[in-house]
Amino acid sequence: MAPDLLLPTNHQIMRPDKDRFLSEENPFEAMMSRFDRAAELLDLEPGLYKVLRHPEKQITVSIPVMMDNGEVEVFQGIRVLYNTSRGPAKGGIRFDLNVTMDEVTALAAWMTWKCAVVNIPFGGAKGGVVCDPLKMSVGELERLTRRYTAGIIATLGPDSDVPAPDVNTNERVMAWIMDTYSMRVGHTVTAVVTGKPVEMGGSLGRREATGRGCMIVTRDALRHLGMEVKGATVAVQGFGNVGSIGAQLLQGEGCKIVAISDRTGGWHNPKGIDVNDAVEYVKQHKTLEGYGKGTAISNEELLELEVDVLLPAALENVITTKNAAKIRAKIICEGANGPTTAAADAILDEKGIFVIPDILANAGGVTVSYFEWVQDRGGYFWTEKTVNDRLEEIMKHSFAAVLQLAKQHKVNMRTAAYMLSISRVATVHRLRGIYA
Ligand code: NAD
Repeated sequence: MAPDLLLPTNHQIMRPDKDRFLSEENPFEAMMSRFDRAAELLDLEPGLYKVLRHPEKQITVSIPVMMDNGEVEVFQGIRVLYNTSRGPAKGGIRFDLNVTMDEVTALAAWMTWKCAVVNIPFGGAKGGVVCDPLKMSVGELERLTRRYTAGIIATLGPDSDVPAPDVNTNERVMAWIMDTYSMRVGHTVTAVVTGKPVEMGGSLGRREATGRGCMIVTRDALRHLGMEVKGATVAVQGFGNVGSIGAQLLQGEGCKIVAISDRTGGWHNPKGIDVNDAVEYVKQHKTLEGYGKGTAISNEELLELEVDVLLPAALENVITTKNAAKIRAKIICEGANGPTTAAADAILDEKGIFVIPDILANAGGVTVSYFEWVQDRGGYFWTEKTVNDRLEEIMKHSFAAVLQLAKQHKVNMRTAAYMLSISRVATVHRLRGIYA
């Protein structure tokens, strides 16, 4: 590939603020630098490189909402379809004050690579509404959700664009989207969203899917490195859906969970923490604050513990050039999206840390979302065992495929995962050609 093509040509289409200084934490940069490296190694042809660097569709809508106080507020809503060559766009919708087009585009691209790495027939999308949902009533949130849905309805549909929950959205929001869409088309369409309540077409096993996927790939990584699963020490940052379920399932496999944390701080116990007990504590107290079964540690200290496995399952950009040299884990399983900055990758590589990249490690969630969509469309629902067995098959297969590519090209698992997914998307583009 010609070197000049590595320059961000036409970048302004995706990043209108291109002159702004971009930090190592910028999500778009994080995604693009990994994309570029993989594209170069794949020797991607220049035309295809340009196509894959651009989102297919970026939609911005104004969302007027009648607030409870009788005043009208107007919110900004975004939906980005990054690439739909392999199937309907798939990706969550977040309600957050920090939503920007830049971030949503990066997350939509990430979804494209994530779906491709586990080889499910979806493209990638992401959406968001700039709002502070914690300050809004249920009624206001429902009106916001329904009007946002109406604003992007032209792209939505089980064959075109299938949203899911993300930051600050949940099953209830998915039910409102599904209802709004169904009212507009005149009949019930459960497959238009995933992450729905089980009573209205959601899938058994979806809640546990991401943590289960993390457990499966961590187990495979331990075995690959010749380490015992039983007794392997694990530190988990974030004790929400992904972190707590990942920890429970790893404990179930015989691992020793020596540290856990949430936004209130962490707890370290070299003898092992009873994860089920901690989950019960959080059910009663909402957070780990005051848990007390171990020594109190900060989130920063947790990341630097000497453990076999580190499972960052909270936030993005927690492993950066500032702390990467101090990480002592042998394996990092990226449960969260983007926990490691692109600049920190090289430092972890130098230290010989085996990183299971986010697009593979946390793909269990979107895989079971795919199962939900399949079940909705078939109108036939699977047992939890069937869901879990099929998830395990996909995760194991994907881990093995990425590992094989990593060995073949002598690259790390992240670059291999990007190479695998980009080559899958590129193959479909080549087969389809350019519609003119
Ligand atoms: P969650 O809201 O259920 O849990 C988040 C946890 O992180 C909470 O325990 C919270 O206290 C903790 N946390 C928040 N701020 C923190 C901080 N500053 N320091 C330490 N801990 C902090 O969220 P989740 O669904 O478990 O998602 C966690 C990560 O996994 C996110 O990056 C998300 O994008 C990613 N992810 C989730 C899924 C899924 O299916 N839920 C799928 C793929 C990726």
